Amino acid sequence: MATDFPVCVRCNLPVEKNSDSYEVFERMHWLCFHLEFEHQGDPDRPCADPACPWWRIEVLHRKLAELGVDPDTAIKEAINERWHL
Ligand SMILES: [Zn+2]
Ligand SMILES: [Zn+2]
Repeated sequence: MATDFPVCVRCNLPVEKNSDSYEVFERMHWLCFHLEFEHQGDPDRPCADPACPWWRIEVLHRKLAELGVDPDTAIKEAINERWHL
């Protein structure tokens, strides 16, 4: 399948969203770049980088709980909404 997007050297998939930053991210997706050069330790766990998606999810998770919203309930509601669109 041909696309106009450059291909990520790490995962071989087209770089669409961040194609303008293809060279900046060493010809990778931003996430692939993060995992390759910035992320420390288990890729399934948050790292110390403030841009780390896992870390950001963890922060928002904590904040929701502080605000009295159960994060798991929020996800369940979002899943239901998605199927009822
Ligand atoms: Zn990639
Ligand atoms: Zn990370």
